[in-house]
Amino acid sequence: MRRRVAPAPGPSTARPPAGAGAGPSRGRPRSVPVQVPWARTVRRTAKSRSMQTLRGIAVSPGVAIGPALVLDARGRALPPRNLAAAAVPAELERLDAALGAACRDAEAAEVDARGRLGPQYADIFAAHARMIADVALRDEARARIGRDAIAAEHAVAEVLGGYAARLEGLADSHLAARAADVRDIERRILERLGGGPDAAAAAAVAPAVPSVALAHDLSPSQAAGLDPSRVLGFATEAGGRASHTAIVAAALEIPAVVGIGPFPESARRCRTVIVDGDEGLVVLDPDAATRARYRRAAAERAARFAGLARLDRLPAETRDGARVGLWGNIEFPAEVAGCRDRGAEGVGLYRTEFLYLNADRPPTEDEQVAAYAAVVRSMAGRPVVIRTLDLGADKLTAYPQGAVEVERNPFLGLRSLRLSLREPAVFRTQLRAILRVSALGDVRVMFPLVSTLGELRRARAILDEVAAGLDAEGIPRRADLPVGVMVEVPAAAIMADELSKEVDFFSIGTNDLIQYTLAVDRTNETVADLYSAADPAVLRLIAMVVAAAGRRPIGVNVCGSMGGEPLYTMLLLGLGLRQLSMPPHQLPEVKRVIRVIDLEQARAVAAEALRQDTAEGVVRVLRGALDRALAPAATATPAAEGRGASA
Ligand code: PEP
Ligand code: MG
Repeated sequence: MRRRVAPAPGPSTARPPAGAGAGPSRGRPRSVPVQVPWARTVRRTAKSRSMQTLRGIAVSPGVAIGPALVLDARGRALPPRNLAAAAVPAELERLDAALGAACRDAEAAEVDARGRLGPQYADIFAAHARMIADVALRDEARARIGRDAIAAEHAVAEVLGGYAARLEGLADSHLAARAADVRDIERRILERLGGGPDAAAAAAVAPAVPSVALAHDLSPSQAAGLDPSRVLGFATEAGGRASHTAIVAAALEIPAVVGIGPFPESARRCRTVIVDGDEGLVVLDPDAATRARYRRAAAERAARFAGLARLDRLPAETRDGARVGLWGNIEFPAEVAGCRDRGAEGVGLYRTEFLYLNADRPPTEDEQVAAYAAVVRSMAGRPVVIRTLDLGADKLTAYPQGAVEVERNPFLGLRSLRLSLREPAVFRTQLRAILRVSALGDVRVMFPLVSTLGELRRARAILDEVAAGLDAEGIPRRADLPVGVMVEVPAAAIMADELSKEVDFFSIGTNDLIQYTLAVDRTNETVADLYSAADPAVLRLIAMVVAAAGRRPIGVNVCGSMGGEPLYTMLLLGLGLRQLSMPPHQLPEVKRVIRVIDLEQARAVAAEALRQDTAEGVVRVLRGALDRALAPAATATPAAEGRGASA
């Protein structure tokens, strides 16, 4: 994976060793500016007065420093803000033309929705058309262009961003939800200012100068379109700690902070931004002392990370000799290199849906075979668990996806395996590709978001049919392809005993398991403080699943973010897990913990954690145990790290 270490001066980013993922110790997101401790000690100058620090949710570790790049509602870079005074009249005309075209687009969407979806959906677009045609919007945007000599894109984004922020701030949840409509019409107008509707959901964002992106929100596909060599980090007003956007940021190793709440006006004008993906801070226009401090911190992190590379060739083994399988999670084939370099035993989760995002049609069978085969070949005989499509909810494709785009409650709707079962042609194509690739190595298949045995049986029946079809054509495949399910829904955990009779392995998807157990939308910053892997209810469900797997016995893995957070390593081992799968950059930190503990210690920590009745209590137990375990490691590492070195 690319690593970007801060060159000074100039834009920079460096990533710390893993472990700073989304954990419950992170503070509740706040939208008000806050002071970082060292900022208080800086003598105030004209420049330092403009420095502002915002707090959000740290979702991808590391520090990025660079010029600000403001992204619009489509996740695209806005053009330069300021215009020459002489360009203002033409800009006003451009605005008027875009408003007219966007209004016609919304009217066309209304007509289409009336025939296809019914009047209640059509009315939404009729309201959008009225909002776009509203003279107050036009006048306000025109006034900004005329008064400030700014590009129409900025005027529209500022006016509508202001409306949306005011709506989001209202206590009335019905009115607050209207902010999404405002963001939608902003997207429509910006599309027209950009020359027309996008061919794909997102295009690559690659600014000429490496920059730090600021956006209201980014979808996972927009995040996947960021060029990590040019977008050094990003910060968003919206978003939660376990969103797929956060997962993509971590995969691309782009430091990121989400869920900040409305940016102050000055954010659009600021010159330099620091994104501190460890502490969840964003500093606008940092003063020289702050910049220097962050550059030093970034260099120290990079050095520490380089130090951990020693562990790559050492086994993940406790002091008393228990081996733990550490596997990698990937979204893109290119991430396999990171898995290999950091000593992953296999790919425990290949999120194949990223092949489908950012494309204007589903990938063909051959295109899928090419992508999966590259991963399998590159793992050279090590296992690769290919997860079938997990589209829907926050992962929407640019091409029509059934009813997904109009769902009221998409995380409880037609997503993931449900969508695959509803679209059997798409599902069959993917299964054929997976089965074809299974002839090339140790391939395994896994179904996401299984909530009933019926779903599992239907999925398996389609898999069997597809396999029989390949056999009839004489196409080779792995006859004993292991089939697993992700345990991501409390119903699956509760039914784990029954499910275990019909699969070869479980993989616990804690990101969704937490969301569905605690009824907390993983992408929603306003309830992010309730989203915690440490919640006793989550722990008990995990313990149930591990016990059910042990009774059969079948394999059991944790592939949600919790599996890659060192805070939870002792707990998970103590609960009986011997396989963890995580983004490759987190492997060294988790291995470091494994190598300084023994199983007795881990079991005691798990037992104590299970006795707690709140997430806070669990975190206290885990934090204390981790600190104690790592404290002697600083002095004892040569021995601990020297154990079991492979040639
Ligand atoms: C999970 O839910 O924990 C998981 C690994 O799947 P995803 O994050 O892709 O939903
Ligand atoms: Mg999931």
